[in-house]
Amino acid sequence: MLEIRPCCENCDKDLPFDALDAMICSFECTFCAGCSESILKGMCPNCGGELVRRPIRPASKLIQYPTQAHRHVKPVDIAAHQIKLSQFKTVPSAQR
Ligand SMILES: [Zn+2]
Ligand SMILES: [Zn+2]
Repeated sequence: MLEIRPCCENCDKDLPFDALDAMICSFECTFCAGCSESILKGMCPNCGGELVRRPIRPASKLIQYPTQAHRHVKPVDIAAHQIKLSQFKTVPSAQR
């Protein structure tokens, strides 16, 4: 089940369960769309996988299936990410 983390891992922006600008990778590393577009270029800095829009859990399900409360923030090493981006530019996500 998706954790639905409460904020962007890079800039700590609030990303409530119904945020339309929350982006996640397959491990649920979570970023705002701004960081995903401007810095990360759609690639997760932790696993190299794709960042896609997080689906919205209907509010009626939150009592039984609440969101994650812990704010996991770890600002991205932008220089290191630039290198990864150039290395992985032509490599399909599944082979990174
Ligand atoms: Zn952000
Ligand atoms: Zn990831």
